[in-house]
Amino acid sequence: MVGRLVLWDIDRTLLKAGGVTSEVFRAAFREVTGQDAGHLPDFGGRTDHDMFTGALSAQGIAVSDALIRRFFDVFAARLRERRHDIVARGCALPGAGAALDAFASVPGVVQSVVTGNIRETAYEKLSLFGLADRIDFTVGGYGCDDGVRATLVRLAIERASRAYGCAYAGGRVVVVGDTEHDIVGAHANGVRAVGVATGRATSGDLKAAGADIVLASLLDTDAVLRAVLDDS
Ligand SMILES: [Mg+2]
Repeated sequence: MVGRLVLWDIDRTLLKAGGVTSEVFRAAFREVTGQDAGHLPDFGGRTDHDMFTGALSAQGIAVSDALIRRFFDVFAARLRERRHDIVARGCALPGAGAALDAFASVPGVVQSVVTGNIRETAYEKLSLFGLADRIDFTVGGYGCDDGVRATLVRLAIERASRAYGCAYAGGRVVVVGDTEHDIVGAHANGVRAVGVATGRATSGDLKAAGADIVLASLLDTDAVLRAVLDDS
């Protein structure tokens, strides 16, 4: 049996949070710094670490590990308070639950996440839409780990390799995501990238970024299985 590692992006790949994340980000930023976050780049594909340190720098606030930790704590708590809004305004993307279930029945497949969300909010969001059960959150790469997405992919591979005693690499690892950042982060680690055009990036954008395969959505479970498991 050959071990495979499937690393899912969360936002706009498995679910939509209805814009609540960016609202909570701004509220948490104000609570922690006393200032408005100002203009923020699009959250798609970026990590919470990157977004927060970028906003601090833009506001002329010194970055410190203590401030980052406090922000993540406040952000997670405030997001939890808004979970009813996430459920009301967001949704699981079509086919996401079926795809997770399908991979769970494939021998040797481990499923985790590489996400810009910090670990607490990654679990919270997926749980709200019934998508958490198939994911191993003890491994994975999270927005609290680093500002660079490729680093999150590397950490996810290292953590899974240690936890499962399997040297995951190359075609045995697949990142599934909706942005060019997901594709670039995968290829920086020499692993496969499946693009899903359910975010702001079009199929053409994801192909141009170098995606090995691009799917319009996760709706066709067989197509998702073929795209992810094909390591030829
Ligand atoms: Mg995404």
